[in-house]
Amino acid sequence: NLKGYTTFLTQHYDNPKSSVGKQYCDVMMKRRGLDKPACKEVNTFIHGTKNNIIAVCTASGGKDYGKGLRISLRPFTVTTCKHKGGSTRPPCKYSDNKSSRYIVIACNQDGKPVHFDESL
Ligand code: 5GP
Repeated sequence: NLKGYTTFLTQHYDNPKSSVGKQYCDVMMKRRGLDKPACKEVNTFIHGTKNNIIAVCTASGGKDYGKGLRISLRPFTVTTCKHKGGSTRPPCKYSDNKSSRYIVIACNQDGKPVHFDESL
C-alpha cells in the first residue's frame, strides 16, 4: 500500500528539520494538514534520512518490538508536537519537544514505514 508510506512521510518525515522560525510545531502541523478537521493531539516529526528510517523495517536498522511493531537500533533526532489549550479546532497551538529517541514504527509488506507508534 503506497498510500500508507506517503502518508507516513507527510505526517512524520522532516529532514533536515525545516527552518520555519519559532513555533516549529504550529507551522508544521498546519503545513502538513494535521490541523484538519481537528487539531491532531500528538505528532512526531523525524529528522532523519528516508534511507535510515526505512532501514528500521529491516534487520540493519531495527528489530522486532512485538505487536507488528519495530524499534530502531539507533536513536533519531525527533520533534514531538503536543496540542495545548482547550479548543481542538484550528488555529492549533502546540508545544515543541526536540530530543534524541528510539522510534517505534509499523512497516508494510514492502518494507516501508506506515505508522508511527511512539519514541523511547
Ligand atoms: P501523552 O504524553 O500525551 O500521554 O501521550 C502521547 C502519546 O502519543 C505517547 O504514547 C507517544 O508515544 C505517542 N505519540 C507521539 N508521537 C506520535 C505520533 O506521531 N503518532 C501517534 N499515533 N502517537 C504518537
